[in-house]
Amino acid sequence: MKTVYVDNAATTAMSDRAIEAMTPYLKNVYGNPSSLHTVGQVAKEALDDARARIAKCLNCDPKEIYFTSGGSEADNQAIRSAALNGAAKGKKHIISTAFEHHAVLHTLKKLEKEGFEVTYLDVHENGIVTAEEVAAAIRENTALVTVMYANNEVGTIQPIAEIGGLCRARGVVFHTDAVQAVGHIPVDVKADNIDMLSISAHKFHGAKGVGALYVRRGIPLRTFIEGGAQERGRRAGTENIGGIVSMAAALEEACENMAANSAKLIKLRDELIKGLLKIPHSRLNGDGRARLPGNVNMCFEGTEGESLLLHLDERGICASSGSACTTASLEPSHVLLALGLPHEIAHGSLRLSLSENNTEEEIEYLLSEIPKAVEKVRAVSSLWDDLKSGKRKHLID
Ligand SMILES: *Cc1c(COP(=O)(O)O)cnc(C)c1O
Repeated sequence: MKTVYVDNAATTAMSDRAIEAMTPYLKNVYGNPSSLHTVGQVAKEALDDARARIAKCLNCDPKEIYFTSGGSEADNQAIRSAALNGAAKGKKHIISTAFEHHAVLHTLKKLEKEGFEVTYLDVHENGIVTAEEVAAAIRENTALVTVMYANNEVGTIQPIAEIGGLCRARGVVFHTDAVQAVGHIPVDVKADNIDMLSISAHKFHGAKGVGALYVRRGIPLRTFIEGGAQERGRRAGTENIGGIVSMAAALEEACENMAANSAKLIKLRDELIKGLLKIPHSRLNGDGRARLPGNVNMCFEGTEGESLLLHLDERGICASSGSACTTASLEPSHVLLALGLPHEIAHGSLRLSLSENNTEEEIEYLLSEIPKAVEKVRAVSSLWDDLKSGKRKHLID
């Protein structure tokens, strides 16, 4: 049986170019960049080179890039640092949205326990927060605004440049979790007025366990991992050279091919959406246009996401019912609830996240298999029985 991998928002396959770029640093060039001898200094050069190349892709200075172990660490460090810097000036209010990634949400929940106040903005049914709502929520004591660039479940893209512009004008630090955006849609930290931005290599065909935090010059960054003086004293620990080199190669590749990839993906995505909407009582979640090129997120009434995933897995289809973290918990996705979907519909969701490696043939396979899987799940669903008999009213037409 063939495998159709459409879970690229969870993680991507490494590209050949990223693997080839990192291989020497796993084999021959094994030095520690902090060592003074030649073997160490060659690694140091690779580190500097990767930093410069990543900075170029994001349109910033290499000194504004700090390497981390991934998106989660970058989010944690950015938010906690800005919160503590604000608190030192008596500012203990933070603005965010209800549908952030858990790396952001759980950090904010912890800060609330530590005495910070957090305003979670509504993302509306289309999955988009407006700049006006951010502006209206800013107070005298607001230390930080953190709004994700693109949502990992429904793929909706936020008006980041506008939000960044108004934060800059009001003197509030602006962080964005851009893990789903960077490498997929154009991101320019200057044009987008961003103060802090998180990225993760494995979401754009680089290695897992490596990411970066961009911090605009002049924004102080606190240290949470103490030890050596790596990353200009902001993040101790011997650098993951191979991973970092793979991230630079993957990001360059993604940016070089972005226009072509995104044209291809939008075509596949829209074909998939159109085909799946033919399933009775189905809907697309999140705005259809301000959406990542590879994201499809649907609800099928009278189904339950987990059983649908098992039926799809039997057909070789690797998809997701929400984010990987919520799949294990059997709770409906906090993102779909934030969009205002009732629990029983939010349970029946399916996320298909495409990459440029997916083919037209695979889309055809998905369109032939998913309707059958939905039918199988509905055949044993008491909720579907009630809907069919009219005992319950359909919530999706
Ligand atoms: C995957 C993801 C993260 C976490 O990144 P890791 O590198 O896996 O820690 C954070 N935010 C978003 C939006 C993500 O999609």
